[in-house]
Amino acid sequence: MGCSLSQVSQTARIRNFIAQYKNEVEFFGIKYVTEKTTHMSVRNELSEGLHTQFDSGVRIEVMFNQHIGYASTTDLSDEGLLRAFNFAKNQTKHLSTQKAYPFPHSIRTKSEGTYRSQIQKPLDTLSLTEIQTVLRDCTARMNESPLIFFRSASVSIVETEEVKWDSLGSEWIQNFSIVNLDLAVRAQNQGDIQTRSHNLCLQIGAEVFLRSLLFPITDQITKEVLELAHAPPCPTETRDLLVSPDQMALQIHETVGHPLEIDRILGDERNYAGWSFVNMADFGHLKYGGPKMNITFEPDRFSELASYKFDDSGLKSEKQYLIKDGILMSGLGSLESAERGQTQPVANSRSSSWNRPPIDRMANLNLESGRKPLTEIIAGIEKGIWVSTNRSWSIDDYRRKFQFGCEYGMLIEDGQLKHVVKNPNYHGVSVPFWNKLTEISNEAGVYGSYYCGKGEPNQLIRVGHTSPYCLFKDVEIF
Ligand SMILES: [Zn+2]
Repeated sequence: MGCSLSQVSQTARIRNFIAQYKNEVEFFGIKYVTEKTTHMSVRNELSEGLHTQFDSGVRIEVMFNQHIGYASTTDLSDEGLLRAFNFAKNQTKHLSTQKAYPFPHSIRTKSEGTYRSQIQKPLDTLSLTEIQTVLRDCTARMNESPLIFFRSASVSIVETEEVKWDSLGSEWIQNFSIVNLDLAVRAQNQGDIQTRSHNLCLQIGAEVFLRSLLFPITDQITKEVLELAHAPPCPTETRDLLVSPDQMALQIHETVGHPLEIDRILGDERNYAGWSFVNMADFGHLKYGGPKMNITFEPDRFSELASYKFDDSGLKSEKQYLIKDGILMSGLGSLESAERGQTQPVANSRSSSWNRPPIDRMANLNLESGRKPLTEIIAGIEKGIWVSTNRSWSIDDYRRKFQFGCEYGMLIEDGQLKHVVKNPNYHGVSVPFWNKLTEISNEAGVYGSYYCGKGEPNQLIRVGHTSPYCLFKDVEIF
């Protein structure tokens, strides 16, 4: 206990251990995960807490009689690893008598390499006190009006190392440097409370804690919350809907990402996270959106939240089009799910940590940029509304009907930005909504979600979404 398995001597020990027991099964893999997370938050210039947690353990994966099984442990001694190995082997032996799904041995291949988040300054080059001071300075800058009563800045700083070895001779190491930073400001006017917030969630280093980066964001949300404090409510009518990249991230996540998960389509998640309106027969045919809609699965794109080189099965990540020119081409299925669904796999077999089995997850799911500048898109809108930043969401089990509320809205009339409206909401049905997509801007924003939930027992996983500004024709707003 307490030793890092990525050290050279430990690597030799793990390789020997795998060599000693691999003949008892058809495949034997060990994945080691260690993670350090520091949370800190500041509210109204006062520290609300600072704590650091460490987590580490291993997951054993075996294949026996063409069935895959898992066990995990925090006991990294040879005895501890053997106990976990025997547990996984016995569970898998039992499972294989049920003939759940016999996988071919080719479902696992040898993988070797390293991955490291591309950062400018390692996270430990700034002291926690220095970071706390930056957060406090952000909340102090929000103190612009007596109407403002809540000013908050909080951050999670995460350093993760994953190491994988298996009986095919695979060995890879992945190191992640992650920051999830939230800024929020609230104002109250005549009993009505309005919030503006901003979330930065990326693989990034200490360079994110620059005042020159954070102060313009702080100033913008402070200005906008005061506009909202005096704004009329959003009207109820049909308008063209211009959606900012931060809200588009959720639109992509909920109405493209989750419905395209193959394990969900196959019914694995029906009991908990839900099913999907998409059928396996839709791939290659379904007109999912307007002709400008191109959605890519892109874990190999650097610096997004869910960038990596290998998924948990050892499959190397590469960019793949899920929706090309509006047509649904492919889904989010791991090697196992793709085998069961007889479709193309993507490298999306991911677990939230060492103590969970991998399932089909999103990783980076991006909407490709278009050619038009935002100003040109706005100039072409006769009667519209521009909405930013999610405030609330609701979506059915099949990911078909949705309703999203945003923090900030601005009406557009005859190509001109008019006035701000508060509490803008819109609703739609996934595929018909995406078919209303008519314009995509040439600039994009990079966002991420730190808390995508799925699986029983629950797994919270990190996903990234890059999106441009998007215009949807004739959407019901309220
Ligand atoms: Zn999710």
